[in-house]
Amino acid sequence: MSHVPQSVAGRLLGSPKRLLGAIALALGLASAAVSAQAQQVLNLYSARHYSTDEALYADFTRATGIRINRLDADDAGILARLRTEGSASPADVILLVDAARLVRGEADGLFRPIKSTLLENAIPPEFRSAPNAEGTAWFGFSTRARVIAFDKLKLKASDVDTYEKLAAPALKGSICVRSGSHPYNLSLVGAMLQRSGEAATEQWLRGVVANLARDPKGGDTDQIRAVAAGECSVAVSNSYYLARLMRSNRAEDRAVMDKIGVVFPNQATSGTHMNISGGAVARHSKNIDAATKFLEYLASPSAQAYFADGNNEWPTVRGVRLGNAALAAMAPADFKVEQVSAAAMGANTGRVQQMMDRVGFK
Ligand code: FE
Repeated sequence: MSHVPQSVAGRLLGSPKRLLGAIALALGLASAAVSAQAQQVLNLYSARHYSTDEALYADFTRATGIRINRLDADDAGILARLRTEGSASPADVILLVDAARLVRGEADGLFRPIKSTLLENAIPPEFRSAPNAEGTAWFGFSTRARVIAFDKLKLKASDVDTYEKLAAPALKGSICVRSGSHPYNLSLVGAMLQRSGEAATEQWLRGVVANLARDPKGGDTDQIRAVAAGECSVAVSNSYYLARLMRSNRAEDRAVMDKIGVVFPNQATSGTHMNISGGAVARHSKNIDAATKFLEYLASPSAQAYFADGNNEWPTVRGVRLGNAALAAMAPADFKVEQVSAAAMGANTGRVQQMMDRVGFK
């Protein structure tokens, strides 16, 4: 009986010359695979326009050889683009900054659900979509609180320490807030609808509209500045806009914050409303494995800390420590968080928009 390897090689390849050729071919393919890997590109559609995210993507490229090609737009723009591009879309990964938009993208079939034990173990269920047979459509990677800012000369924290108090007659003509149709407000009210029901929530909305100091306009930062300028005495804002002003190197931004008190509402009751920034794999991605790997990378402790801190947010992965002095100064230690899942508040968006229309919250 001949030597086994020779016999196998002989049967498969016929001659030593062909064997050498096959080895060379295999080596060539292996090196081609390595260079293909080195050149692999993930197309990222991102609504997070934070320069700090760039360093995060560079780290991912260093670790994996996969380059990130980023296209920036806002949430609505990204969803519209994905719909238009359809199956020709080059998108691999999508990052959005609101639960209502993530739920919209899922409902419109724009995401490719994935199965990742790593992500399911790392991201708590309230910060990801409910899995179906295909997998999980989206995951939240950071959280932001929707808080109340007030003029310290005109009001006390106890005047505005719950969302419910925003409808109190005492605050008539006091409130500045961005459009009722903005996803941040749709998600805030979607969560209230989930915990208080439609009648109470609509009555509350009528009270808020009656208390507006002006027709809604601008973003959250504009409302904060309007409080500092005396145009209103209460503003509703995401926490990171306040932290951004606190950390600004412009003296006039810090002067705005000197005039303002910040309340994390509902600490004695239902907890402060939290929204998420999150990600998904694009429905028509041709790089599902690499896109999944990228989302898994965002859930690693170091990426979590960096991703959240880059925009003054909190990580969704439990136990990740943040060293953000502005957030520490602004938020009560271990503040109570509203227990409504991002999926549930996002799913209420349509009903909330109808309520907004009925009460005239433009
Ligand atoms: Fe924002």
